[in-house]
Amino acid sequence: MHNAAFAHLGLDCVYLAFDVDPRNIAKAVSSIRNLGLCGVNVTIPHKQSVMAGLDEIAPEASMVGAVNTIVNETGRLKGYNTDVSGVLRALYSELEFVPQDKNIFIVGAGGAARAVIVAMCTGGARSVAIANRTYSKARELSEEFLPRFGDVGFSAAPLEDAERVAQLMERADIVINCSSAGMGDIEPLCLPLDLLDENCVVYDLVYKPTVTPLVRDSRVLGLKAESGLGMLLYQGVDAFEIWTGEDAPVEVMREILSVPA
Ligand code: NAP
Repeated sequence: MHNAAFAHLGLDCVYLAFDVDPRNIAKAVSSIRNLGLCGVNVTIPHKQSVMAGLDEIAPEASMVGAVNTIVNETGRLKGYNTDVSGVLRALYSELEFVPQDKNIFIVGAGGAARAVIVAMCTGGARSVAIANRTYSKARELSEEFLPRFGDVGFSAAPLEDAERVAQLMERADIVINCSSAGMGDIEPLCLPLDLLDENCVVYDLVYKPTVTPLVRDSRVLGLKAESGLGMLLYQGVDAFEIWTGEDAPVEVMREILSVPA
């Protein structure tokens, strides 16, 4: 999508993939300066380890504890996390959802969940409930974020605790799947979607397949639901704008990813 956007705007830039061995991450970060790269995206497993080599880290990235976008400002490297802004833009444009005063139910407690929690809390959510297969990780996340976002009511639940999950889902304004369940061959989530309020919306960060079992089942019940392609699009749109300082050609990027308008 970035190469299509560069070509569309006539920018003399190219987006390439580099497979970096974790042992060489410090050298790879120095190379951004030494080779005069405009910027980079960073993905698993380097999103945390790159942070040590940066000159500045944007507040949302430091709250998440992970950087997915770096810009090189004449040798000064600044790190951002555009998953945070990307999920907010996707939720607004695809589901007309804003987190202000809403009750959020999140499944998953990995890296993606961290970015979504920061997005929801900075967006003014009333409460954030985290359910995860490994309960201890959900509890640790809620304990970590509670002191930073004192106005938000946090709770954690084991995903297998059907009664607790049902309670939390009944009062949810949005269900966000931040786990890998439903991706490719991984078994989908088994959630009591019929308990959701009719105005509750469902967002699945998984985007392979493009209509995930969670999205399909939610739509069957008449709920508004979308998969994670929009978040993928908007985290890229925001990275593009950080690197180039230009408005990204969103429709060109959307078409390449085949994200429904
Ligand atoms: P991660 O750090 O590895 O975390 C994976 C999470 O999924 C953990 O909470 C794990 O639970 C849970 N999980 C895995 N298999 C499961 C299953 N069968 N049933 C229930 N829970 C399961 O991964 P991540 O970076 O957070 O990414 C999670 C998903 O989000 C991936 O599918 C990724 O592609 C997607 N994602 C999408 C976007 C986007 O732009 N749309 C951005 C980031 C990530 P345990 O703690 O119990 O292991």
